Order: sequence, then structure tokens, then C-alpha cells
Amino acid sequence: MSNITDLIKKKLEKRVNRAEAEEAIKTLLGWIGENPKREGLLDTPKRVIKAFEEYFSGYFIDPYKELEKTFGDVQGYDDMVIQKNISIFSHCEHHMAPIIGVAHVAYVPHKKIVGLSKLARVVEAYSRRLQTQERLTIEIAETVFKGLEAHGSAVSIDAIHHCMTSRGIKKHEATTATNFFTGIFKESHNLQSRFLNLIKK
Ligand SMILES: [Zn+2]
Repeated sequence: MSNITDLIKKKLEKRVNRAEAEEAIKTLLGWIGENPKREGLLDTPKRVIKAFEEYFSGYFIDPYKELEKTFGDVQGYDDMVIQKNISIFSHCEHHMAPIIGVAHVAYVPHKKIVGLSKLARVVEAYSRRLQTQERLTIEIAETVFKGLEAHGSAVSIDAIHHCMTSRGIKKHEATTATNFFTGIFKESHNLQSRFLNLIKK
């Protein structure tokens, strides 16, 4: 787990500096037909890079760290814990277009439980990167499963991909649903259907 933190450090060391990143935005502004020297656009590269820092903050977060603080006393609780309707704001890796949706995350605790906000933080750490919805779903499920040493985890994501709604095929209503199960969720169809029913409520 600490090797993720090492990887993050290395990534930060190799990162181009802010001025270079802003210069790249200026180039793009010219390319789309704008004049980057126009008054209204003078600070745009700065603002875009600042926004990018937020959109893509996940590359510099270790999701396992978010799950380090746990409570050991599960008090005999042995059913699934579900966090529903965690909003997702991600970007697709093919077009860097927004992916907007919701995630539902569940796990069956083994020896430890976490504060519920931590599940949302794991979602945040992976969604604030360039993603495919399939990989995002798997990464959240695997991290909750391994990070909490849970009996199993389940993740369901429903999202709109702007690369489909505002360009290309332009299907405004199309949503994409993905599910991924680990541990006892994987083995039990009963548990899977209970999860899928509970998140519909
Ligand atoms: Zn796309």
C-alpha cells in the first residue's frame, strides 16, 4: 500500500511544471480558432489548469489510505452495508469528456467497518481520473474488498457519458449501467439480487 504513495511521489517529480501545462492550453485555444491573447481569455489557461487539478486529483490520492482508519467492533453485524447515490464526476479516457452519474457501494464486513464517508472517498479517488466505467466499477469494488478485508463487496454505477450525448452518436438519454461483485457477492446470486433491489429503493 505504501508503494502506491511511492508511485505518487515519483509521478509528482516527473510532472511538467504549471507554466508548461498552461502553455498547452494556450495552444489548444489557438487551435480551436480562438485568439488566446483576447482579454477574456488571458487567465483562461490558468483557470483550466486549476480546474484540471480538481478533475484529475485522483492520480495523487492513495485510495487504500482512505480505508486505513477502521472500527474493529462490528458488534455482530453481518449483513451488507450500503452507501447509495454517491455522485460521480469523471472523464472518459477516450475523449476526456465528462462522465456523470451515481455509484452505489456495498460491503459485508468481516472484522472491521469504516465511516461511511470513506466509501465515497474511494469513489472520488478513482473517478477523479481518466476512466472507463467498467474499470472504475472494478477498482472501487476491489479496493473496498481488499482494503477492508471484507467478506465481499458490490458496486453498481449508472452514468451518462458526454462523449455519447454531446458528440458522436448524440444519444442524449443513453445511460450506462455496470455492476461488479467480489467475495461472497460473487458467489451468491441471492446477495446480488438483494443488493440490486435495495439500491433501487
Ligand atoms: Zn468517451
